[in-house]
Amino acid sequence: MEVGEKVSRDINLLKPYVAYLCNKLIEECKKQGLTIQVIETLRTQARQTEIHKAGNGPALIGPHGYGLAFDAVPLKNGKIDWKDYTLFKKMGAIGKSLGLEWGGDWKSVDCPHFQYVKGLTDTQIRNGKLPNFPPIPGETPPLDKQYRVYVSKLLGNGLTETYAKTKAQQLKSQGYEVYYITPDGKKVNV
Ligand SMILES: [Zn+2]
Repeated sequence: MEVGEKVSRDINLLKPYVAYLCNKLIEECKKQGLTIQVIETLRTQARQTEIHKAGNGPALIGPHGYGLAFDAVPLKNGKIDWKDYTLFKKMGAIGKSLGLEWGGDWKSVDCPHFQYVKGLTDTQIRNGKLPNFPPIPGETPPLDKQYRVYVSKLLGNGLTETYAKTKAQQLKSQGYEVYYITPDGKKVNV
């Protein structure tokens, strides 16, 4: 028997800049001695409806449905401690320092929630509006006669392989030559 809608924890399903911030949050928390776990990323309307029926959220999907939000929890001895607000606060502060909005600051507190919407309302987001995303550090490909993406360089800058591939395919579909250089200097077209 199916029990509930599937919960996605895949960071790669977030908008690339949000995925970058999510990975950065994990990394920064780790540096400060805090292990965190991402418990949800992209959400379907079906799951939102389920959440709503349980009385835990609005009927219509918000930033979670558009790759603009994720939920994360701090771990203590490998386990989630929902009652340790200090750890959530620490995680929230780190997230905010990276430019994320934290649900722990809301009137209706949502401590695991982070989003990047830059003031857009849920309605605007549902109508297809997206915030302006700054460039991802290390993402800008070198330019000369043709636009090239050195996929290996992107990967070297901490980006996920999936993202590098998506970006490469995107540019390729726009007519750019996309390739990477192997460590022994061979050119491989993507
Ligand atoms: Zn959330």
